[in-house]
Amino acid sequence: MKQRIAVYPGSFDPITYGHMDILFRSLELFDKVIMAVAYNIEKKGLFTVEERKDIIREAVKGNEHVIVDSFEGLLVDYVKKVNSRFVVRGLRAMSDFEYEFQMASMNRNLNKDMDTIFMMTSKDYFFISSRTIKEVASFGGNVDGLVPPVVAKCLKEKFFNT
Ligand code: ADP
Repeated sequence: MKQRIAVYPGSFDPITYGHMDILFRSLELFDKVIMAVAYNIEKKGLFTVEERKDIIREAVKGNEHVIVDSFEGLLVDYVKKVNSRFVVRGLRAMSDFEYEFQMASMNRNLNKDMDTIFMMTSKDYFFISSRTIKEVASFGGNVDGLVPPVVAKCLKEKFFNT
C-alpha cells in the first residue's frame, strides 16, 4: 500500500514541545512525517541546521515514523522530491494565521496538487515559540516542560558553556 507521507517544515531553532505536539498528532494521519529543517538565508539561527537535526533526532528517539531532513529553496520542490503532497503546519493564536494563509496560498499557486494541513496548537503549548524559549534560556530561566530535555541541555551549553 502506498505510504502517506507529510512534510513538516520549519526553522525548529530549536524544536519545542509545541512542535512535537503537532508532529505526534500528524502521525495519526500520516504513515511518515518528515521534519524538514529549512535553510533560511535571512534568519541566522542560534543552532546550525545540522545541530537542529541532531536535536530533533534525539528528541524523537528513533521513532521510525519520523524522518529528519533539511532543505534549501522552494518548499513545493522539496515536497515533490520526497513524493509527498501534504505539508503540516501548526497554528497558534491569530498571529500565525495571516502568514500561514499567505504561505499556503502561495504554495498552492506554485503547485495546485499540494495541500497544507493546519493543526491548532494544544492549550498547553500555545504560548511557546522557539524565540521566547531562546530568550528565557539566555537569561538562565527554566524551560523544563516546554522543550524536550535535550533542548534544555543544548541551550545551557550554548549560552553558559556548561
Ligand atoms: P518558521 O520559522 O517557519 O515559522 P517554526 O520553527 O517557528 O518555523 O515553526 C514551524 C511550524 O510550527 C509553524 O507552522 C509554526 O506555526 C508551528 N509552531 C511553532 N510553535 C508552535 C507551538 N507552540 N504550537 C503549535 N505549533 C507551533
